[in-house]
Amino acid sequence: QTKTPYNYITTSDVSSILKKRAKFSHKGSFGNALLIGGYEGMWGSVIMTTQACLRSGAGKVYTHLDKTGRLVLAQHALESIYIQNCPKALKSNPNWNAIGVGMGLGLSNNAVQLMEEVLAHQPKRLLLDADAINLLSKQKNWLKLLPKNSVLTPHIGELKRLVGEWDNDFDKLNKAKQFCKTYQVVLIIKGAHTCICDGTNFYFNSSGNPGLAKAGSGDVLAGVITALLAQNYKVLEACQLGVYLHGVAADLALESFSEHSLIATDVISYLGKAFQLLE
Ligand code: AMP
Ligand code: MG
Repeated sequence: QTKTPYNYITTSDVSSILKKRAKFSHKGSFGNALLIGGYEGMWGSVIMTTQACLRSGAGKVYTHLDKTGRLVLAQHALESIYIQNCPKALKSNPNWNAIGVGMGLGLSNNAVQLMEEVLAHQPKRLLLDADAINLLSKQKNWLKLLPKNSVLTPHIGELKRLVGEWDNDFDKLNKAKQFCKTYQVVLIIKGAHTCICDGTNFYFNSSGNPGLAKAGSGDVLAGVITALLAQNYKVLEACQLGVYLHGVAADLALESFSEHSLIATDVISYLGKAFQLLE
């Protein structure tokens, strides 16, 4: 059989990726994740990312959002640690294991400043979603500042802003591949059969259903992958495992919900069952 760059992510591929939690491990063994977003009333976005990150094995989850949303965070994610001063948190701690930025961040001057702080910090593991991608599309000179192996999770609209219009699906994949090569990043092109591109190969997801076609689903995915990055999974493996688990959680959730009624927080509550299937 000839080897093509196009791969399909199956259960057996990802079950070998998931690592056991060592008996003598402690929260320090599983990384500190910092999530940044939730401005302009979009608190729910980064709070759902926080919940998903907490459900995906990170040792400690820290969340920065607009101060007006801090009590909502406290009510909906007791286990997360609120970060009020994000620039200070970035400067005083060089050891964030993973940073996820952009979920409900908005496009304000404040958002621009936060992005500048994150890029100056050069995190070891960085995931950029939603408005972080939209800001990058507006300030293309930032692209060369992205740390190597950063993960970008655009939906189709965000991808268009980032790489420009395409003529057909083949052209879309080619543009994505060129982008990944040029900036040495990983793209997760979201939709039915989400496609991961690392600049050489493409990996298409086999899990998930149209119940996910609702606001909030992408925020959950960002939380799952940031948690896996914080736990030091290889970047490509974190993407494959995260995309697959997110889809499986949505598929399992159909035992209680329909594709019509499924919402993003339901997907979070089924992450545990999705992990169980792979353990
Ligand atoms: P976002 O647009 O950022 O909220 O992300 C949407 C999430 O839902 C991504 O993880 C997509 O892969 C997933 N999704 C959206 N539509 C579908 C669909 N028709 N089938 C499967 N997954 C979907
Ligand atoms: Mg989104």
